[in-house]
Amino acid sequence: MTGQSEKFLPQPRPGTETYWNACRQHELLIQRCSECGTHQFYPRIFCTSCSSKAVDWVSASGHGKVLTWTVVRRAVSGAYAADVPYIIALIELQEGPVMMSKVSSCEPESVCAGMAVEVSFEDWSEQVSMPVFVPTTSKD
Ligand SMILES: [Zn+2]
Repeated sequence: MTGQSEKFLPQPRPGTETYWNACRQHELLIQRCSECGTHQFYPRIFCTSCSSKAVDWVSASGHGKVLTWTVVRRAVSGAYAADVPYIIALIELQEGPVMMSKVSSCEPESVCAGMAVEVSFEDWSEQVSMPVFVPTTSKD
């Protein structure tokens, strides 16, 4: 463990600024191809299904399910020492794309494949809010 006291924060760039600005408003955006309708995440300048450059940002439902996960028990730096243990998972969004994220409000022993989750946001700085997922409590 290093003595680093600050968490690694994403640096919004052209192409991801829209995504991070929406996260700051606690809204999860993904891309949708207006030619073939495919949703995708992470952001790209073209559709991974049909190669069209007509990709737009749309609001994701924020609902998904856990595909697989790992439990981080050893902090990568001092900045994360208070967070361990925590769950990093591949989340399949309702719209289809898979994103890697943290699962919060869930004991490491309780996470399971297929578990329904929904997005939530952790404000990491004035500029950055990080999407995380929590177990779904509603049945919608
Ligand atoms: Zn397409």
